[in-house]
Amino acid sequence: MTDELEQRALITIFGGTGDLANRKLYPSLFHLYKKGSLGENFAVIGTARREWSDDFFRDKVKASLKDIEDHEELADAFSSHFYYQSHDVTNQESYVKLKTLSDELDEKYDLKGNRLFYLAMAPNFFGMIASRIKSEGFVDTEGFHRLIIEKPFGHDLKSAEELNNSLRQAFNEDEIYRIDHYLGKEMIQNISVIRFANSIIESLWNNRYIDNIQVTLSEVLGVEDRGKYYDESGALRDMVQNHILQIVSLLAMEPPIKLTTEEIRHEKVRALRSLRVYEGKEVHQNFIRGQYGEGEVDGKELKGYRQEENVDPHSNTETFVAAKLMIDNFRWTGVPFYIRTGKRLADKATQIAIHFKNVPLNLFGQQQSLGGNVLVIHIQPNEGITLHLNVKEPGQGMVTMPVNLDYVHSSPDGMNTPEAYEKLILDCLRGDATYFSHWDEVSLSWRFIDQIAAVWNTTKDHFPNYKSGSMGPKEADDLVQRDGFYWFPVNE
Ligand code: NAD
Repeated sequence: MTDELEQRALITIFGGTGDLANRKLYPSLFHLYKKGSLGENFAVIGTARREWSDDFFRDKVKASLKDIEDHEELADAFSSHFYYQSHDVTNQESYVKLKTLSDELDEKYDLKGNRLFYLAMAPNFFGMIASRIKSEGFVDTEGFHRLIIEKPFGHDLKSAEELNNSLRQAFNEDEIYRIDHYLGKEMIQNISVIRFANSIIESLWNNRYIDNIQVTLSEVLGVEDRGKYYDESGALRDMVQNHILQIVSLLAMEPPIKLTTEEIRHEKVRALRSLRVYEGKEVHQNFIRGQYGEGEVDGKELKGYRQEENVDPHSNTETFVAAKLMIDNFRWTGVPFYIRTGKRLADKATQIAIHFKNVPLNLFGQQQSLGGNVLVIHIQPNEGITLHLNVKEPGQGMVTMPVNLDYVHSSPDGMNTPEAYEKLILDCLRGDATYFSHWDEVSLSWRFIDQIAAVWNTTKDHFPNYKSGSMGPKEADDLVQRDGFYWFPVNE
């Protein structure tokens, strides 16, 4: 898998002038170059409609590195590998020029025909680009051909299938790398180590010892300038279908027989297949949706969702989802997996809280309520784990007090860090698809989400139903409280 030749590649970025390319892809490629993971045998073609020269493009690439310490030293050498090709993806002639440049660079850098195509643009172009990549002979070289695509992967199962079929004209399933940047995060990748390298944890990882599991992905920001996209998507499609179900499947899966892409995927798919499917009223009972209204944070007045730019003033789109998922298999029967995600919430955090069952009898007297044992996996902004335990308060008597065993450090960046992209791009260059979403996972997730969306579509909610700067609608608290639980606070 990891041979030196594989990291030789021509990387063609469609959407090379865009936000994703500038903020994430160029800095990530630079980190790989700096670390030596990307040698001298690589070239990057940036394409977009604008007419830019190579020099102008290289200046833009260098500008995207400004926040990286000591970048000056290597910036020129790095950016010399970058080439720009003005290209309208809807115009066939553009592909002829792009193909000529690709072949030239292949020879110049001795790339052995290895090609990585990164689609950093709107998904409605994906099918067309894939079909041209095939018809114009981009994948007729010896060497590997891989495609990285961004979310959203469809809007529902049907559109995802259409998109997938269009990509499959040019690429096999094992050549398609569907990026889910959460899967590139350090602590998401750490879930397998925490579970499978610690017998005290793995032996408790089941319905005999775990009461409930909570996954929170909360954002402080609103929709910002993505109103148009978001109003057609909503939190269910934007966050739950992909990131949250991926995290749930990593938490719930059975131990794979080996830590290989196929074995892990096989177990994740089995976990997703065990998700209880809700129908009719059950959807309303187990899935709560919310939309933010106005609010005040740090003395600053914030707009409600319906007042945001490019959002329908009567929009029924949810900016918050909380749900109780049940996994109907031997290991998890009876253990709720509560999930919640939303915009304009009080705190920004991604965390997993595993609540263990209480001791059978409280020996320390009714007046002392014992806090339960909770293992918190902090994904961002902090990274690490905290184990909440009870110990004796020093001094006379048998008074208990909670303590935290911490292994936590703050992660360098917030959401969507270049580090995640860096890992995932390198994985792709090495041909390791473990932390990318396979079609089987994507299709199962959509099947599950479509059932919820279909029921939601039949009714309107009383939006807005939570204030900006709160932790979501009251119904989300009721969802856990009716089972005798509470949401574990974030960032604690
Ligand atoms: P963007 O609008 O900033 O960039 C789009 C790029 O596509 C630009 O370079 C533009 O010139 C190019 N383009 C548009 N029409 C074209 C055409 N006909 N021919 C050639 N080029 C054309 O978008 P973005 O924020 O960079 O996002 C790109 C993709 O990545 C989207 O699918 C988005 O959903 C996804 N994504 C972005 C982020 C992010 O952080 N920006 C995060 C996750 C997913």
